[in-house]
Amino acid sequence: GKGAAMVTAVAYRLAAQHQARQKILEPLKLSHEQLLEVKERMRIEMEKGLGKETHAEATVKMLPTYVCSTPDGTEKGDFLALDLGGTNFRVLLVRVRNGMRRGVEMHNKIYSIPVEIMQGTGEELFDHIVHCISDFLEYMGMKGVSLPLGFTFSFPCQQNNLDEGILLKWTKGFKATGCEGEDVVGLLKEAIHRREEFDLDVVAVVNDTVGTMMTCGYEDPYCEVGLIVGTGSNACYMEEMRNVELVEGDEGRMCVNMEWGAFGDSGCLDDIRTEFDVAVDELSLNPGKQRYEKMISGMYLGEIVRNILMDFTKKGLLFRGRISERLKTRGIFETKFLSQIESFSTVLQETVKELSPKCEVTFLQSEDGSGKGAALITAVACRIREAGQR
Ligand code: BGC
Ligand code: MG
Repeated sequence: GKGAAMVTAVAYRLAAQHQARQKILEPLKLSHEQLLEVKERMRIEMEKGLGKETHAEATVKMLPTYVCSTPDGTEKGDFLALDLGGTNFRVLLVRVRNGMRRGVEMHNKIYSIPVEIMQGTGEELFDHIVHCISDFLEYMGMKGVSLPLGFTFSFPCQQNNLDEGILLKWTKGFKATGCEGEDVVGLLKEAIHRREEFDLDVVAVVNDTVGTMMTCGYEDPYCEVGLIVGTGSNACYMEEMRNVELVEGDEGRMCVNMEWGAFGDSGCLDDIRTEFDVAVDELSLNPGKQRYEKMISGMYLGEIVRNILMDFTKKGLLFRGRISERLKTRGIFETKFLSQIESFSTVLQETVKELSPKCEVTFLQSEDGSGKGAALITAVACRIREAGQR
């Protein structure tokens, strides 16, 4: 009768809506062929970044890190580490023990960095960092002790030494003035001098990918890639020195910070960027920059989902076509919801297998990787420095 007809009509409308939504989502799913194409384009960009002649115009910068040696287990001592560039700022004290029971003991404290400071002046930012270090030393009862320090600074930096890092550009939520083009170790030291309270021996500037690789490498010497998919996204890996054309010498290997977040900034991913990716990019702090990062990392994924939900709703495919004030609010859909829905690891492993069938890739999760890694790199540098003085 009439009732049955209505039920059929509703079922039909729901099925049609489902189909319409699937159609909108289609461009977000890449086929095997498309993935291979992205891989090939990434390879081309990597070569540009490594090459002496092509580096200046390259978007994927492939930055030398001056990290060549991994811990050998003989390093020891107390080290401070700073970890800046994710959601939180951390100060850490890392105790490295050597010998039979080698191991790492850590104490750390998390500090928030208010948006006004992330996007204020460089002086304010570095004064705040030094204020946090001072608080930490007091909290640990270590005021007045001068320790070697490793600085995990998770932004693209040009390095000519392990203990120097010229900030190329801010990414993610940072925009403090007067820092781009400057050596961040210099900025940190100036802030320490302004405070006139303690001194620190800054031994290493480290990208978070490099710190993470080091931390896993301490447990497993075969670990030679570092990968971060956090607030931002990036990777590093051990490269043959002869391919690192920006650095003299052909012997051995050096860790290269890829800065793959900027992949696509040349326009080479335009055909697979969706309208949602473009919308999120346009309202970001750095439009047109870090396009690949904006397609995959935590700071942006939630916004991509919100844009999709808005689109569905506008087209009458969700929420009965009514766009609420909440849905209109930027940042309301947090990326953590996404990771709860899609828990982030079999898809990853399957896709890696599919794209590199000849490689045996195992994923290790790093606990507290980036800060601990900076301390380990500092420990290695101190060991080598002390050996040189002997
Ligand atoms: C930065 C990288 C960093 C990555 C993950 C990116 O925005 O440019 O240096 O490794 O975020 O934190
Ligand atoms: Mg070379």
